[in-house]
Amino acid sequence: MPRFITPSLITLAALLTACSGQETSAAAHAEAQAKAEETQEAPKPVLSFETIGENLHVIFGSGGNVGVSTGEDGIIIIDDKFERNAEEILSTLKTLSDQPLRYVLNTHYHGDHTGSNIQMKETGATIMAHDNVRKRMGMTFENKVFGRVTEARDPESWPTLTFSDTATLYFNGHQVNVIHAPNAHTDGDSIIKFVEANVIHMGDNYFNGLFPYVDVDGGGSLNGMIAAHSAALDMADGNTKIIPGHGPMATKADLEEARALLMTIKERVELGLKQGKSADDLVNENILQDYSKYASFINEENMIRIAYRSLSEQ
Ligand SMILES: [Zn+2]
Repeated sequence: MPRFITPSLITLAALLTACSGQETSAAAHAEAQAKAEETQEAPKPVLSFETIGENLHVIFGSGGNVGVSTGEDGIIIIDDKFERNAEEILSTLKTLSDQPLRYVLNTHYHGDHTGSNIQMKETGATIMAHDNVRKRMGMTFENKVFGRVTEARDPESWPTLTFSDTATLYFNGHQVNVIHAPNAHTDGDSIIKFVEANVIHMGDNYFNGLFPYVDVDGGGSLNGMIAAHSAALDMADGNTKIIPGHGPMATKADLEEARALLMTIKERVELGLKQGKSADDLVNENILQDYSKYASFINEENMIRIAYRSLSEQ
């Protein structure tokens, strides 16, 4: 196993749950089991929603943020969290609209954004995503970051409507632009803009207030992520409401700050590369010490190692 990241078990478990999309994170599962045995009660609601515009909402909590559009044409959601959240997502949608769920747009393949695809499909919804989301969900490949294998997913969960570059939906009075961001968080990311409502869903191209995860083994790159930030900033103005993949709602200024952080990380790691330093050297120097406020499930060390690998392999 390549020596790449050595986070603590807690960090690793959180990471597995939060982003790589493994439903069966051993630590999370054990914790849920212990809680259920302790209380003998049905699981408490873990999701909450915020209305961000006319008939536009975001469902927060557990997994990636879900964008929701309701209206006379039905419901579109962007991403659908983990499988364990399916029931609560559907009951939340019922409180927002009595119309059927028509489309689920997956921003990328990770299981915390695609975990409920089967349950959503069973209600009659069409799952839509970039071509590479379907490809990735059908692949078994090595994730060197986690030192494990990402298993192919049940074909029933795969998107059935895919696109290569851009797609446009006209739905509930909105023009919905779906734009592929190449090799960013993964190799199949979409950024989605509700044009008239001036709302952008970034998927995991944007972690608000946190160091981002770049899924290098899943085709992602630090440079692509910076480009995805720039593409979204070009579509935004001072009134744009930005839905990040993880974290609270954001503004254009927040996204600019996030891009500046990524560019600083890139500059510092590239300088180390030029000086012939190893990833270990940069970790030992703790070159991101002054940005420790962004550390969460990706801490400073993880961020340095991911950036180093992305920039040295390009
Ligand atoms: Zn992700």
